[in-house]
Amino acid sequence: MSTLAIHGGQPIRDTFLPYGRQSIDENDIEAVVAALKSDHLTTGPKIKEFEEKFAKSVGAKYAVAVANGTAALHIACLAANIGSGDEVITSAITFAASANAVLYCGGTPVFADIDPDTYNIDPKEIRKKITAKTKAIIPVHYTGMPCDMDEIRQIADEYGLIVIEDAAHALGASYKGLKIGSLSEMTEFSLHPVKNITTGEGGVITTNDEKLYQKMSLFRTHGITRDSSQMIEYHGPWYYEQIELGYNYRITDIQCALGISQLDKLEGFNARRQELVNYYDKELMDLAEIKTKPNHYNCQSGNHLYVIELKLERLNVDRREIFEALLKENIGVNVHYVPVYWHPYYRSIGYEKGLCPYAERLYERMITIPLFHTMSDKDAEDVVKAIKKVIAYYRK
Ligand SMILES: *Cc1c(COP(=O)(O)O)cnc(C)c1O
Repeated sequence: MSTLAIHGGQPIRDTFLPYGRQSIDENDIEAVVAALKSDHLTTGPKIKEFEEKFAKSVGAKYAVAVANGTAALHIACLAANIGSGDEVITSAITFAASANAVLYCGGTPVFADIDPDTYNIDPKEIRKKITAKTKAIIPVHYTGMPCDMDEIRQIADEYGLIVIEDAAHALGASYKGLKIGSLSEMTEFSLHPVKNITTGEGGVITTNDEKLYQKMSLFRTHGITRDSSQMIEYHGPWYYEQIELGYNYRITDIQCALGISQLDKLEGFNARRQELVNYYDKELMDLAEIKTKPNHYNCQSGNHLYVIELKLERLNVDRREIFEALLKENIGVNVHYVPVYWHPYYRSIGYEKGLCPYAERLYERMITIPLFHTMSDKDAEDVVKAIKKVIAYYRK
């Protein structure tokens, strides 16, 4: 057995492999340069062009592009009229933004536990958390694998709830043949560099509902309208009215030019992610010390993250030791995520540990391994070699 790098041995790689990264090619650069030389750096024609192209790519009628995915969630919650006294059910295993957006509106996030097999929010747990105050559900397609949307729709219809999907991981994913982004009242995507395509920072919210589309467009730009049919007065062509308390959540034409160019490549990017996932699945399947996330029920995942779950009962050490050993082998591992309500801010407003036992159990056991579309076969082989090396050393 070769000595682990953490014990002074030779690491599997000489150079560090990050867990995710963007790729920008010459077309992207040309598109951005053209936007920089154009008349509009912001609020120009690239915004609409990007929105229309994005909506089409996910099978939605409308898309609103904004400054980041968190802003997209925020305007979705505002458009859903979430406010003080309203409860919104979301997953415990997600990036804090999914719940923060509810807090921004004065609402209360309610965390439902995950299904230990899919790691997604468990519809049975959603049912348990519904009260007279529940107004919406924010299911998170964790790692890119769609949640059980038929079941979630059923619950939403039964109780008259709005569904806002957090599809930050799920651009290009589909559920039973339908694209994620076309299914619910609203669906949020993130275009942060680590996500499947990027605009540097950016977010998009899609909807099929014209009213929600108009509301979200308002909230993106201060709540200001230039549409005289929405105004209470009209003074002339210069005149606009602020009819809601909105924000400046605009995205720039520079970013949208990049987004348009990146969107052309999404299919290829995601095909490569799928290839890498298939390779990991095949190579890691027989390792008795880890469990990999299964593909299930007629879905195409966005394959944003690849998560392994350690079977700690078969190992001599805990997750931290294995994580640190993999890092020393120069493999950029990560953990997604600390259960949201464990964060000190959430505890300061009354949430306590123990709320979602499956989420907490997963948190103690999971490691995200590198996955991005420009990874080479050799990179993926190094990841597998490092996992096998580290697990072999620590197995019971
Ligand atoms: C990335 C991400 C977001 C939004 O992030 P931004 O950085 O604001 O674009 C929201 N939810 C999840 C699950 C995410 O991974």
